[in-house]
Amino acid sequence: MPAPAFPVLDEIRTLPTVDVLVAGGGSAGCVAAIAAARTGARVLLVERHGTLGGIGTSVLDTFYGFYTPGPNLHVVGGIAQEVVGHLTARDAAFIRPNTYGAGGGVTYSPEVLTMLWDELVTGSGADVLFHATALDTATDPETGAVTDVLLATRNGLLRVAAHTVVDTTGDADICARAGAGFDSARPDAPVQALTTTFRVAGVDTERARSFPKEELFALMARAARGGDYDLPRQEGSIHRTPVEGVSLANMTRVEGVDPTDVHQLSRAEIAGRRQVGEYVRFLRDLVPGYEKAALVGLSAHIGVREARRIHGDYRLTAEDVLGARRFPDAIARCGAPIEDHSGGTDTLWRYIPDDGTYDIPLRCLLPVGLPNVVVAGRCLSASHEAHASARSIAQCMAMGQAAGTLAALGAAEGKAAREVDVKTLQGRLRDDGAIL
Ligand SMILES: Cc1cc2nc3c(=O)[nH]c(=O)nc-3n(C[C@H](O)[C@H](O)[C@H](O)COP(=O)(O)OP(=O)(O)OC[C@H]3O[C@@H](n4cnc5c(N)ncnc54)[C@H](O)[C@@H]3O)c2cc1C
Repeated sequence: MPAPAFPVLDEIRTLPTVDVLVAGGGSAGCVAAIAAARTGARVLLVERHGTLGGIGTSVLDTFYGFYTPGPNLHVVGGIAQEVVGHLTARDAAFIRPNTYGAGGGVTYSPEVLTMLWDELVTGSGADVLFHATALDTATDPETGAVTDVLLATRNGLLRVAAHTVVDTTGDADICARAGAGFDSARPDAPVQALTTTFRVAGVDTERARSFPKEELFALMARAARGGDYDLPRQEGSIHRTPVEGVSLANMTRVEGVDPTDVHQLSRAEIAGRRQVGEYVRFLRDLVPGYEKAALVGLSAHIGVREARRIHGDYRLTAEDVLGARRFPDAIARCGAPIEDHSGGTDTLWRYIPDDGTYDIPLRCLLPVGLPNVVVAGRCLSASHEAHASARSIAQCMAMGQAAGTLAALGAAEGKAAREVDVKTLQGRLRDDGAIL
């Protein structure tokens, strides 16, 4: 006997058509929505959770990528820099000098940033639909264009048609559903390890800061070797935050997970939180300044560094990154090192020689075979190594500005995104403060 049908499948409601549908409200998606709306498009941003900012607010508190390691060159402007300005004006951010090799970081309050994204996105005129997961796509069989996106909500299934869809789901859910090619976790090519972050309060910040990082790492290695603490990663970052006595730790490591598999991801969530317990115990027992530390925050979910990397018109490579390559269709700049958390107890770093920077070309945001889809953020078209450099939040926001602006220009001109003149896009981005 066939399984009984689900009535919800016969009750799909249709939302008003928009010019630009942004799927995923992380760092890239928020900026894409703002840029598209400010360029005059009717925009709907759909987000599966109830907050904006993605990993940048649910897992982390530091923007990397604004400044290069070494000379601290400022390489990202535009809407991303505007965000930093608002956070600083609210006393909710400060610049942390290069403590971990990735260039100067902007450490902020994730709570203030969450509220700021609400203001900036809705203030741009974009509509936001929370608790809406982009589940599937309908495509035109002749052109491959995505005509509609299906959303799963607690009010049932909703469909929305858009001139252009910006895939900022981080995991390239739209592209994968629409049949585009991508690279993802395989046994012979694992993606980067996952991390559950945590915050502790009651830290004696001065004593904690004066304990050298090398000694902390050596202590971790000894503690792990002794067998009393299960610390798979024996380095990582624990740093002060805008709240006195509160530090955020990026230390746990869950390896060998395909983050697009819900079963593996579920096991990883539990493993990450179990590790947090171990790292907190280690800090309290052994590390100066943390004797009275108390766990006050877990990341809302485990942090996924890498899931699907789309096959775009161009694939950024390690040679492009380390060769400081320039591209005629540049839409963003990056000077971040290749920072690979592939596994083991430490992290592999490869720096761009001579303090160089490279361009991210527009073609890395254009999925092959999907004429009206643009991606931005950590699902860009790049090799595993190049991705490990280009994924910092500042670059994700810069890509978001390019994708949103492109989508809106395409809608205004009645063209597919990839038909928009790249010089027109670059001119508009420069006018809006982007650094190309
Ligand atoms: C543990 C960890 C530490 C890191 N440390 C740093 C750091 O210190 N500094 C730094 O600059 N970068 C860091 N990175 C990298 C950086 O955080 C990410 O590359 C960046 O935040 C990605 O932004 P994004 O907008 O592309 O994706 P995300 O932030 O993942 O946003 C994607 C959004 O889409 C939503 N979404 C997903 N699927 C759907 C769907 N089907 N329908 C609707 N919504 C959907 C998600 O809920 C989310 O809000 C770190 C990453 C991790 C995981």
